[in-house]
Amino acid sequence: MQALRKLKRGQGQVELVTMAKPRPDIGEVLVRVESAGICGTDIHILQDAYGNLQPPVTLGHEFAGVVAEVGPEVGGWREGERVVVESLASSCGRCRYCQAGETQCCPDRQAFGISADGAFADYVVVRHTALHRLPVGVSFQQAALAEPLCVAVHAVLEKCSFQPGDTVLVTGPGTIGQLVAQVARLSGAAVIMAGTARDRERLELATATGTEHVIFGDCEDLPTAVERITEGRGADAAFECAGVGAAVQGCLAAVRKGGQMVQVGLAGRSIEIDYDRICLKEITLRGSFTHNHRTWLKAVALLSDPRLKLDVLVSGEFPLQQWRAVFDRCEQSQGLKYLLNPALG
Ligand SMILES: [Zn+2]
Ligand SMILES: [Zn+2]
Repeated sequence: MQALRKLKRGQGQVELVTMAKPRPDIGEVLVRVESAGICGTDIHILQDAYGNLQPPVTLGHEFAGVVAEVGPEVGGWREGERVVVESLASSCGRCRYCQAGETQCCPDRQAFGISADGAFADYVVVRHTALHRLPVGVSFQQAALAEPLCVAVHAVLEKCSFQPGDTVLVTGPGTIGQLVAQVARLSGAAVIMAGTARDRERLELATATGTEHVIFGDCEDLPTAVERITEGRGADAAFECAGVGAAVQGCLAAVRKGGQMVQVGLAGRSIEIDYDRICLKEITLRGSFTHNHRTWLKAVALLSDPRLKLDVLVSGEFPLQQWRAVFDRCEQSQGLKYLLNPALG
């Protein structure tokens, strides 16, 4: 089969190679990949800017497909079932976090496309407990967005507790920011999304999917704009999805006294912030990192909610052979979410 692999550490070192079709072992299932999303993580891996990587490894952690073969000692799954798969390849199962269902904190967690062979390939072997049946009417392309949707669900529904009618600020209009905004709106918040002039198309997309207000952070001072929109009150909650120092500062300044802030984006390096604001404004600041099984149950149920606009976030679907051209577009921040589909090759 064909597989897009990071062969070793270093800039580039990603190649489409031919390798043997894997076989499912005890407790495992072979999935034929029908659609897989390219994410910022994949671009960081290409650029050798991702720490945890264990090459050689097949990339791709956001995917949906069809059960192609059921391994020994797996009950409840049949060939041909349409599935979406959790991005967690394995966790230790013994640590206090695993036992509490908080696998995102497990020190031994392995993720597809990073430390376990992922889905930019014709087939991928997964633990059967990672499978979720696709609701009727949900396409493979929509389901390929389930993983970033889980990131949003974890941040909005599991790490924050705003009320219907509250105003929520989202910084960073990438795929995660768009989904955070949509889930926040489903939960009854009014949403302000902030980006830069470079993000014009993405901010227009946010408006088209229901975001009430957008702010161009390099044209208008973010806290001033939020104050104007909220009539002096400030945002009740802020979700920082850009991973940029200025956006973190903007959120701390724009959130109201006693408000909440959730850090979703990763800066990848130290940033300078006005730490006293957290104390002086009594801000509740929480980190949100990936998701766990409970998050997936919520997100898969949401996939078939017609109020969630997933199709508009997809900028195109391409065969594996065209990966280089599509990665180039991602590196240049053209479009939003691109999908690779091995069946198109
Ligand atoms: Zn991702
Ligand atoms: Zn563990």
